[in-house]
Amino acid sequence: MYDTGSVPYFPFACRYEEGDWIIRNPLNKQERRINISAYRLLHHCNGSHTWGEIVHELATKYQDSESSIHAQAEPFLSALTKEGMLWWSGQTIAWWPQPPPVFILWNITNRCNLRCLHCAVGSGAPGNDELSLEQCKKFIDDVAAYGVTYLILSGGEPLIRRDFFSIADYAYEKGITFQLATNGTLITKEKARHLASLEACAHVSLDAVNPETHDKFRQSSGAWKRTTEGIRHLVDAGVPVIVGAVVTRMNIHEIPDLYRFSETLGDVTFRILPFIPYGRGKDQQDLEVTPEEMRTLTAPLLEMKKTMKTDLVSMEFECTFGQPLLDRPDPHTHIGCAGAVSYCEVMADGQVFPCSFFDGVKTENIRDIPFPWIWENSRFLNYFRSLTISDIKGSCQKCDWLSLCRGSCIAANFVHGDIFQSNCHCWLVYEQYLKEHASRKPAVPYNRKKNRNTRASARS
Ligand code: SF4
Ligand code: SF4
Repeated sequence: MYDTGSVPYFPFACRYEEGDWIIRNPLNKQERRINISAYRLLHHCNGSHTWGEIVHELATKYQDSESSIHAQAEPFLSALTKEGMLWWSGQTIAWWPQPPPVFILWNITNRCNLRCLHCAVGSGAPGNDELSLEQCKKFIDDVAAYGVTYLILSGGEPLIRRDFFSIADYAYEKGITFQLATNGTLITKEKARHLASLEACAHVSLDAVNPETHDKFRQSSGAWKRTTEGIRHLVDAGVPVIVGAVVTRMNIHEIPDLYRFSETLGDVTFRILPFIPYGRGKDQQDLEVTPEEMRTLTAPLLEMKKTMKTDLVSMEFECTFGQPLLDRPDPHTHIGCAGAVSYCEVMADGQVFPCSFFDGVKTENIRDIPFPWIWENSRFLNYFRSLTISDIKGSCQKCDWLSLCRGSCIAANFVHGDIFQSNCHCWLVYEQYLKEHASRKPAVPYNRKKNRNTRASARS
């Protein structure tokens, strides 16, 4: 029986087909046909009502008892909850006034010249839902007038758009600074100089020192050579570069060498990103490393950082190597990262998400509604803003670093089937799990459910 004070939220789109409603689980792509009563029930689960209020309303409307409504709804809601499609939090959505985002990651295309195994947005083939140049300019006008001064132009591979520099030049004219998130293979000397003239910086993905490892991961022969050349062109032109590596079982043993190698590329910054099996990465779950392996990698990297010239940007759970804050966090502290709070993502088709791991969720589109309205009024964004660390279940609640980490990436948890679980990547949670489950040590992330698709990944 669900707690009557809990607030259910079903954020996914439903479509109508031949007399029934269809809901689709974006994690396993399975569809479920539901009748009109189930559809109406989900319609009430919008994050604005407690379960008790919903039951009371339905009992009144259908002249039934509240216990009967509970009994009828419970099997269906339990099934959706187990699948990670129905989320239960401790408070209703609050619609606070919201300042403009500090930055927006904007996928200007879903096309790409590579087919990376881990690609979170499954980029590749041409899509027909890309925004036109005019629509891109309108979006830039909207965000510039709103006071947003920083964009990350991502994709797909943003440079594959022939009008990339028309978009970039226009953003620059409007006073917007931007970062290019790229696979680096299409950077020429001229493009690097053009980017420098726009005062842009770049995030370039490089996964290994060994060209074969990188090319295999990127599914493109010669990608490593083109990417490293691209990085050198950028550095020569004076564009600040972050070299980013997605950590998988394929390259984890090469990461310290890659950090050393990045120093030979010039004055760059190095970054590692967790692999979250989402998009095309859903078919590569075996590449995901365990939290313990990630800690074994992180500790020596932090030691190397002390003597390396190349900076290393903060890593997930790095805080656990330092001193915890002594005060217990305010339970109303916002959960997770800055997604929906000071940052959001605009997808290639114009949809607005807290970050890119929520395809299938019903959100607003900048083709139809100006961005400022969406930012302030989107139900999904406001839901994220309303979540607090008291919504997290399990060992995070006792953790000394909770006020620093706030439970970290909840999109990763979503891909693992429960957005409110203690973080599926964290080594402290993993240790706690091992203590509770004594002798059995899992070979893969401990909370992966058999035959289901797991967490999110980075791209580019
Ligand atoms: S246990 Fe939870 S709060 Fe603590 S560091 Fe890990 S994810 Fe963060
Ligand atoms: S990860 Fe980046 S480079 Fe690779 S296919 Fe996706 S968008 Fe292209």
